[in-house]
Amino acid sequence: MTKLSNFIVFLFVMLSFFSPVSAAVYWGDLHVHTSYSADAYLQGGSAIPDDVCTSAKNNGLNFAAVTDHAEYNAAAGRMSEYLWNDTVAQLQNGSCAETSTFIPFIGYEWTNQTYGHKTVIFKILNIPFSAVFGAKHYTTPDALWTALDSSGYKAITIPHHVADDNTAATNWDYHNPYYQPVMEIYSEHGSSESCRLNYEAPAFCNSSGSAAYALGTKGYKIGIIAGTDAHDGRAGSVNNGDFVMPRTQFNGGLIAVIASSFSRTDIWDAITNRRTYATSGPKIILSFNINGNKMGSEIILASGEYPALEISAQGVRSVIDRIEIIKNGNSVSPVHTQTFSQNTVSYSWTDNDYISGDFYYVRVIQSNNERAWSSPIWVTTQQ
Ligand SMILES: [Zn+2]
Ligand SMILES: [Zn+2]
Repeated sequence: MTKLSNFIVFLFVMLSFFSPVSAAVYWGDLHVHTSYSADAYLQGGSAIPDDVCTSAKNNGLNFAAVTDHAEYNAAAGRMSEYLWNDTVAQLQNGSCAETSTFIPFIGYEWTNQTYGHKTVIFKILNIPFSAVFGAKHYTTPDALWTALDSSGYKAITIPHHVADDNTAATNWDYHNPYYQPVMEIYSEHGSSESCRLNYEAPAFCNSSGSAAYALGTKGYKIGIIAGTDAHDGRAGSVNNGDFVMPRTQFNGGLIAVIASSFSRTDIWDAITNRRTYATSGPKIILSFNINGNKMGSEIILASGEYPALEISAQGVRSVIDRIEIIKNGNSVSPVHTQTFSQNTVSYSWTDNDYISGDFYYVRVIQSNNERAWSSPIWVTTQQ
């Protein structure tokens, strides 16, 4: 063989060696309203579900969900069967038709002012109106989960703006690990990471709804995502505010999913296994592993082993300013901070003070203050 063909064979061998472990990042927005939500409609909104998919593609997203309020009609406390069936139909055609690069999801928002809001996302599109459980008739989280159980459709419920008492903070006394693998900590309602952080905390911030409380105080194993909560159908409109309902001063965020390939099942499995991270809008690339295990994992170390954190990130239109490592939900005082001033960074850090049961997530902060939050990794030592 010539030197060139030798080299090509070498390349193929290397590619086939690396491809099984390579994982890509896919971008989405799982929290988008149209005029089929009463609040958007009453303020003059005209977006329809098809617009959500057009906007998602224009904003470079790989997946998006339509999540109109299940309580569309205030008197009836219920979305209409006509609007729901029309949403199902639109999501299977036109701009929303599933392709090798775009996947639509259907859902609704369970808008409960006592226990907090949750977006309900289904795995498949063909969901009957009988599986729409609004907060007026399904008044507690347990009632919602029981109803979803009996419907038989695979679904998750994503608590959102969890610390925002202006809308409704999440009551974390109610949690279901099966239905709530992830929480939305950033959107146009700002950051619900912790009320003790300066970064875009809601004006009426409820500490016992925050992500820090759910992860640290309650000890729940929940992954981290962001969304827009746009009410004008504009999925992924992270820099433009919300045209129909410019209700807040914050921009929306995005969910990033880490998956080895792209299909409805791949994206669903990545979300339910917490292989997700959140950004405040820019498509910051973030990889976070401990001892070779991806974000969202629960790992068991051998006796005497320490968690070795490996973080790499790539900034967008700004350099990476720092990586902050958050241990055991103490989001205010990172256990370790490493500063940079470059676009692409890679960093390793071992926690020599580790004790079994510790967990870690990372914040990557650009010099323009935009950021990404990883899902945590939970670590225990074999007894
Ligand atoms: Zn809401
Ligand atoms: Zn919403």
